[in-house]
Amino acid sequence: MDFDVPQETADFAAEVERVLRSPETARLLHDVHARADGMDGDVRPLYRHLGAAGILAPSWPVEYGGRGLDYTATVTLLEQLVAHGIPQNLYCISVQNVGSLILASGDERQRKTLLPAMASAETTACILFTEPTNGSDLAALQTTAVRDGDGWVINGRKTYNLKSAYADFALIAVRTDPQSSQYEGITLFLVPLDAPGVVIRPIPSLANEQFHDIWFTDVRVGDDAVFGKPGAGWSLITQMFAAERTGLDYYARGRHWLNMIAERLDADGRRPGDVTRVGLAKHRTRLAASKLLSCQVMQNLQDGNADIAESSFAKWHCSETGQRIAWWALDALGPDVLVPGPGAGDRILEAALRESPGVTISGGASEVMIDILSSARVYDAGGAAAPAPGPALDPVQERLREAVDAVLTRTGDLSEQLGTIGVPALSAPASLGGAALGLGADIVINDRLGHALQPLACYRDTAFALDLLDGADVPADIPADILSGLLDGTSHGVVIGARGPSGVRVKGDGTLWGESEPLPRGTAGLCVVRTDEGWHLVLPDPATCLVDAFEHFGTPATRIRFDGAPAEPLPITEERWRRALDAARLRQAALLLGVADRILEVARAHVNTRVQSGRPLVERQTVAHRLATLVGEGDGWRLVLHRAAWQFDRDEDASAASVLAALAEHAQLASRTALQLHGVRGMLAHSTTATAYRQVSVESTRLGSPADLWLAAAA
Ligand SMILES: Cc1cc2nc3c(=O)[nH]c(=O)nc-3n(C[C@H](O)[C@H](O)[C@H](O)COP(=O)(O)OP(=O)(O)OC[C@H]3O[C@@H](n4cnc5c(N)ncnc54)[C@H](O)[C@@H]3O)c2cc1C
Repeated sequence: MDFDVPQETADFAAEVERVLRSPETARLLHDVHARADGMDGDVRPLYRHLGAAGILAPSWPVEYGGRGLDYTATVTLLEQLVAHGIPQNLYCISVQNVGSLILASGDERQRKTLLPAMASAETTACILFTEPTNGSDLAALQTTAVRDGDGWVINGRKTYNLKSAYADFALIAVRTDPQSSQYEGITLFLVPLDAPGVVIRPIPSLANEQFHDIWFTDVRVGDDAVFGKPGAGWSLITQMFAAERTGLDYYARGRHWLNMIAERLDADGRRPGDVTRVGLAKHRTRLAASKLLSCQVMQNLQDGNADIAESSFAKWHCSETGQRIAWWALDALGPDVLVPGPGAGDRILEAALRESPGVTISGGASEVMIDILSSARVYDAGGAAAPAPGPALDPVQERLREAVDAVLTRTGDLSEQLGTIGVPALSAPASLGGAALGLGADIVINDRLGHALQPLACYRDTAFALDLLDGADVPADIPADILSGLLDGTSHGVVIGARGPSGVRVKGDGTLWGESEPLPRGTAGLCVVRTDEGWHLVLPDPATCLVDAFEHFGTPATRIRFDGAPAEPLPITEERWRRALDAARLRQAALLLGVADRILEVARAHVNTRVQSGRPLVERQTVAHRLATLVGEGDGWRLVLHRAAWQFDRDEDASAASVLAALAEHAQLASRTALQLHGVRGMLAHSTTATAYRQVSVESTRLGSPADLWLAAAA
C-alpha cells in the first residue's frame, strides 16, 4: 500500500472544503437539522447542491459523472462530509454501495442512465435485503419475483432498511427460482419505489434515522429492472459486500466523534487527567489502524483485487473502533453527554451514543465479519493459510527480508551471521560509516527476527547507540576497530538509562560508578550512559566495567557495574535523543509484531489439529474468533507500524510511543491467547508458546511498559 497521497487528492480536498464552507451548504444543512423531533430530515436538496459542485463521486470515471481520481479522494471526501456534520448514510448507500456496484457490474445502459444522476444526487438509491425472517443469513430471503409475460411480478416484505423514504429506487434481492439451492435462486432488481404496489412505512429507531418496512404487492417490473443475470444475485451481493465493507464510513464517524470529544475536553479549559489523555491516545492510535485497513481494502478494490475476508475485517475494525469511541464519550465527558446542548456540536455525541449500537450490526454483524475472516485465515481447509496482507515492501526491503530469513537458517552466532549480510551497517547512520537505508529496512529485519523467535536485543541496542552517536559533535576518538565491530555485528553498543536516568552516577573526576539495569547480553564495544548529570560515552574496560551475566525471565541478560570507568561527556541534544528513541521504539514494535505473528501461526496450527469432543478446536467460534480477531488486529498494526517508519524516514512525527504501546499490548495478548489455546501443553518449559510468552514479557517492557508508553504518548 502506498502511503503517499497524490497532489490531485490534496487539490480535491481543498475544493471540497470550499464547497462545504459555502453559505449555501450551511443554509441547506440547517434545513436538514431543522426537524422538530431531532430526526434527520430530507438531505436530498443538500446532496443535490454538493452533486452540482461535482464532488460526490470523485473516484468514478468522468463519463459517468465522476472525477477520475483515485480512492484517496473518496477517503478525504467522506472524512470532510462527516466532519462538517453532513448526514452521510444516504450518500454512502446510494453512491458508494449501489452506485459502485452498478459501475462494476451494471450493463452500459444502466451505467449511462443511472450513474451521472446518482453522482449529481438527482437520483438516490437504497438497499432492500433484510426481511423479517432473514438477517445475517441473507440467503434465507423469501420475497419472490415470478416471471409474468415479458416482465416480473414481485411480492414480499423487506424491513429494517434505512433511507427508503428518501430514495428513488431500490436495489432489492429476491428469490426467482425456489427450486434451486438457497444461493442459486436469488436475483437482484433495481425497482422504482414509486411503482404501484410499493408501500413504505417508517419504524422508529433508537437512533435519529428511522428504519422502514416496505411491502411489495404484485409490483410489476420489466426485464430492464433485472440487475445482472437472473439467478446470479448471490455472487453480485458478495461482490457488493466486498466493496460496501470498506469500513470507511464507520472510521469517518469514529474520527469525528473522537474529535468532538477532544474539542469538548479542550473547551472545558482544564487539562484532562492522565486516564482521559491516555484514552485519547489509545483511540487515536486504533483509529489510525482502522483508516489504514480501510484504505488497503479500497486500494485493492481499485486494483481489482477485492477480497471479502479483508473487507469484512476492515468493517469489523472500523465499526468496533467507532463504537468504542462513542461509548468512551460517557467516560471522558460524563453524563453531560446525555443531555443534548443547544449547539449542533453538542448534539453529535448524544446522537452518537444512540447510533453506535447499530454500527456493529448494519452491513454485517461483527460476529459474522469475524467468522468470514476466521474461515479465510484461521480455519485450515487443507491448503496453506492465506498470506497475511500488508504493505508492499520495496525491492530493497524484499531482498533484505529474504537475506535475513536465509541467515536465520544458519548456525553460529546470529549477530555475526547478520553482519555477513550488512546488518546493522546497512541501516546505520552514514556519519558513522553505515549505509543509512532508513528505518523501513530495520522494520523488516526486526519483524523477521521476531518471527523466528530470535529477539537479538543486542542488535537493536547497537542501532540505538549508533543513532545517539550520529552527529558532527560525536567524539572523534571512537577507535575505528570498535566502530567496525559494531557495524559488522562482532561487538555491540549498549544504551544504559533508556527508560530514564540509570543507577549510574558520575564523580567529580568524570568517572562512572554504579550498576546498570538488565541489558541484552552481547560483547559490549561501547556504552552510551544516561545519568542525572547527562550523557556519557564509555569504552568498556574489564578493569572498571564488570559484567554480570544472568537469565532475565528466560532471556540471556547482563548487568554492567561501573567501578570508576573513565567516561567522556556526550552532547546529546533533546532532539537527537527523541529521534533515536523513536527509532528504537519502532524497531522494538517490529520485533513484537513478528513474535505475535509467529505465535498466532503456531496457535492456528494447534487448534486445527487438536481434537476435543470429536471435532477440532477451530470449529468452535470462541476459539476461532479469538484467533481471527488477533490475526486481523495484527494486520492493522502492521500497516500502522510501516506507516510510522515511513513517516520517521520523512522526518514527520511517527507517534512511536503509541505504536510501541499498541504492539506491546498486541504481542502480550497474542502470546497469552496462544498459551491458553494450547492448554497444558502450552506450559511446557521448552514449548514454543512458553518461549514466546517469556520473550514477549521481556521485550514488551524493555523500553517501558505499555502503561508507561501510553503516558508518554499522551504527554
Ligand atoms: C443501522 C442499521 C441500518 C440498516 N440498514 C439496512 C438497509 O439499508 N437495508 C437492509 O436490507 N438492511 C439493513 N439493516 C439490517 C441489517 O442488514 C441486519 O440487521 C443485519 O444483517 C443483521 O441481521 P439481524 O439484525 O437480523 O441479526 P441476526 O442475524 O438475527 O443476528 C443477531 C445477532 O446474532 C449474532 N450472530 C448472527 N449470526 C451469527 C453467526 N453466524 N455467528 C455468530 N454470531 C452470529 C450476532 O451477534 C448478531 O448481531 C440495517 C441494520 C441496522 C442496525
